[in-house]
Amino acid sequence: MELSRKLARAQAASPRPRHVTILGSTGSVGCNTVDLIAGAPEAFQVEALTAHSNVGLLAKQARRLGARLAAVADDTRYAALKEALAGTGIEAAAGRSGLIAAGERPAEWVMAAIVGFAGLPPTLAAARRGATIALANKEALVCAGTVLLNAVRNGGARLLPVDSEHNAIFQCLDEGNREAVERLILTASGGPFRTWTLEQMAHASPAQAVAHPNWDMGAKISVDSATMMNKGLELIEAHHLFDMPEDRIEIVVHPQSVIHSMVAYADGSVVAQLGDQDMRVPIAHALAWPRRMRTPAARLDFAKLSALTFEAPDPIRFPALRLAREALRVGGYAPIILNSANEIAVSSYLDSEIGFLDIARIVEDVLNRMTRRFESRAAPSGFDDIHAVDEQVRAEARLMCSAGR
Ligand code: NAD
Ligand code: MG
Repeated sequence: MELSRKLARAQAASPRPRHVTILGSTGSVGCNTVDLIAGAPEAFQVEALTAHSNVGLLAKQARRLGARLAAVADDTRYAALKEALAGTGIEAAAGRSGLIAAGERPAEWVMAAIVGFAGLPPTLAAARRGATIALANKEALVCAGTVLLNAVRNGGARLLPVDSEHNAIFQCLDEGNREAVERLILTASGGPFRTWTLEQMAHASPAQAVAHPNWDMGAKISVDSATMMNKGLELIEAHHLFDMPEDRIEIVVHPQSVIHSMVAYADGSVVAQLGDQDMRVPIAHALAWPRRMRTPAARLDFAKLSALTFEAPDPIRFPALRLAREALRVGGYAPIILNSANEIAVSSYLDSEIGFLDIARIVEDVLNRMTRRFESRAAPSGFDDIHAVDEQVRAEARLMCSAGR
């Protein structure tokens, strides 16, 4: 009680509301962010919200939070958005330029929660003007890597990790003792097929793949969790966020998802962050950072936690982990190829065009062929390079998906 009074006082003492923008406000992470902000209206002023095409929900959120701008990526929905916002004074924008405008708005804190490569342009725009970016959109960092990190550095911006594993590491990392950090340990739930045979996985339906045992998330990341490509992308994300070489990032399967990740130190200590499986915890950590705010997340009851178990990931049933390690080791365009091929394969799987095991098979094939093609090219130097390769990979992966039907 005493602690919550102190927290409430600390929040009330905040000098002025924090100006925030949510890129991808209608998604799973976006809606959780909207709820946290709506629960503390005096602490936040909302600048911009964005969505892909759901203008009904976008307009509702914009009204609820009193946003200044709402942007929809699908420009055929512009008229519908304008109509839904009529009389509110909230500006409407659409298309790629509308998304970038949302990233450019003067919000000091930006939640990057668009799924996939599509989130990169507005995230780069926010980085260039020096925003604090709460990064959920791991694909943007996987594809842009040093290009995004350079934009962050040159713009005087800051990345705060929202992905639960990276947020855990951020909380456990002793920045003043970086030379004593031996390894980062990313935990993985193992996804819905952790105990399935390859034969069963071959016939897994999209509905089974998106039914994650511990987390309630968007469709794409749920499929990535089922193939464990999600952990592969997170490996690359951790490498960039914490400047850690690939061979010092370990992945361990921890089916209960209570420990969200760990940092191992030279003296043999391992520091872990624990909590309920609720994205509002890492989102709130980034939202209030460097302070803390209250969330309605369930509290851990240690007497009721019967067991915390750990196992090594199975490389035969989950080849995506090896592919991500290979892509990170090769560097250059390989992580973009990995990510873009995976985005297409996952979308094709969700449309029931290919089978579950075809996802990693297609990604591996595209990765091998296209990495060789780009081998002699200099590393990507800006968004245009990355975008051009992304488009080529998508076209190639689409061909493979339609051939695999
Ligand atoms: P989601 O599918 O629920 O939501 C995605 C959001 O992006 C929506 O607002 C959607 O309208 C928008 N969007 C989709 N395609 C777009 C496009 N082409 N252009 C512009 N906007 C587009 O996804 P999510 O589960 O909220 O995940 C968002 C990001 O956060 C992903 O990168 C994911 O890996 C990451 N993440 C999610 C969770 C989680 O618990 N959901 C946890 C960790 C990390
Ligand atoms: Mg994660």
